[in-house]
Amino acid sequence: MDDNLYSKLRGKIQSEVSVKKRIFISLLLVSSTFIIIFLLFFWLIPVIGLSNIHPIAPILLGIFVFSIILLVLWSSSSLILSILLKRPVLFSRKTRGLAIKLFLPLMTFVGEILGVPKEKVRASFININNEMVLNEGNRYAPNRVLILLPHCLQNSRCNNRLTYHIENCKRCGKCPVGDLLKLRDDYGVKMAIATGGTIARRIVVENRPEFIIAVACEKDLASGIQDTYPLPVFGILNVRPCGPCIDTLVSIEKVRWALEMFVKKHHEG
Ligand code: SF4
Repeated sequence: MDDNLYSKLRGKIQSEVSVKKRIFISLLLVSSTFIIIFLLFFWLIPVIGLSNIHPIAPILLGIFVFSIILLVLWSSSSLILSILLKRPVLFSRKTRGLAIKLFLPLMTFVGEILGVPKEKVRASFININNEMVLNEGNRYAPNRVLILLPHCLQNSRCNNRLTYHIENCKRCGKCPVGDLLKLRDDYGVKMAIATGGTIARRIVVENRPEFIIAVACEKDLASGIQDTYPLPVFGILNVRPCGPCIDTLVSIEKVRWALEMFVKKHHEG
């Protein structure tokens, strides 16, 4: 790829990431504060009555609650530091798991209360996930990389059935599938089209990839990243000029950029 184009794309992707990073970090801080306040209440209320049961009971409950508070503080600060420093910190290599399993559901909930649209929270999560996957610095053999595409990328007037056999595409140029197939051939990776979450899961089980580059909308990408954890997924949002789920597009350059970043070259063995 042209060096200028490559660095321009990297710059563009990074500036998108930094805007969305702010949403993620703010929601993460609010979520952690919520948990801590909830836990403090959980501790304080029974304490008033617990001392009547046994004098040591409130202390034991206090130790338990404060251990959880420390855990929340450690996990959220390690996550924020990992995002800011672009590497795993505070002895945690599990920060992506924390973001996916613990904080995303919580942040969606808190975001809803604060009036932040779900789509924004999800887009922010996808960007953070991508950055963490990038920061892991791993590269994968081409045959262990799967590009997973949504069905809506296919031109809605095209009658070729691609779900079970993507080779049915005639590469006519009326939708992005033909260009994506060319990329697949250039890099020697696998590619499949899924019509929904169940088929996507089946494709993943059948292909047993070590790394996935997934194209989809915010909702499908966020749930796909959650479903396939701990498998690393780099998410690329589709573009929806005709509205959701029909004749969507994707930046071929973003997919190429991801392939450049994650696929091992021949000389890398
Ligand atoms: S490139 Fe052409 S043949 Fe291939 S899926 Fe799109 S419209 Fe159909």
